[in-house]
Amino acid sequence: MDSGDPLRYSRQICLPEVGPEGQARLRKAKVLLAGLGGLGSPAALYLSAAGIGHLTLVDPDRVDESNLQRQVLYGTPDHGVLKTERARSRLQELNPFVNFTALATRVAAENASELLSGHDVVIDATDCFVSKALLNDTCAQLGIPLVHGSISGFEGRVTVFAPPAGPCYRCLYPEAARAEVANAASSGVVGALAGITGSMQAIETIKLIVDSPLLDPLIGRLWVYDSARARTSEFMIPKRSGCEGCKSFVPRQVIPLGQP
Ligand SMILES: [Zn+2]
Repeated sequence: MDSGDPLRYSRQICLPEVGPEGQARLRKAKVLLAGLGGLGSPAALYLSAAGIGHLTLVDPDRVDESNLQRQVLYGTPDHGVLKTERARSRLQELNPFVNFTALATRVAAENASELLSGHDVVIDATDCFVSKALLNDTCAQLGIPLVHGSISGFEGRVTVFAPPAGPCYRCLYPEAARAEVANAASSGVVGALAGITGSMQAIETIKLIVDSPLLDPLIGRLWVYDSARARTSEFMIPKRSGCEGCKSFVPRQVIPLGQP
């Protein structure tokens, strides 16, 4: 499929970190976005605008009025509509040169391997520990880098799990699968923080795909943004010996370079 007018991407192609080769990589890339909520909305918008070749959108939910405070893909008339369908139409409007697959389903143990297979990067924009652990384990088995994001209250967190180069989600949260995460419904969150955190996930995804030596992906480092105090922190995440999540990792896939 045509990638669109080069003018569309001119402001990123002119960057030495991207260039025509990086743009060609973006056009060939296939990304899966799990969750079309507060994090998934900005991630989907910016990845579509950047000219990702194929974006798979996965979310079982319909738009609710309480979503509109932070889920900027949707508007007031969208109440009750499937998020995948509204997201696809909105994103196609933004960039008709992106291929979209919309799946109104939840990533579960029964379908995870089939859903994720064939993607170059997976973005975790879910709000549940069990889903996060499942995405981690499946990406591990398939050798796909996972861009993790989470938000609570005024705090946002982002990191990239891409073993064997770095740790995995279970290295960071060994008890993850047995815990219940505080999500927006129960703990509250500032809408603009979802925008920052989801946008950060879009940037990390683009960095992984462009794969320039001038870029330093957030592998093995946890970025924490305390928006209440406008402070940013970074923590090294050690690989945990005996981690059950890392056991099955295979080397990261290399995205073949396409013709610009
Ligand atoms: Zn691990």
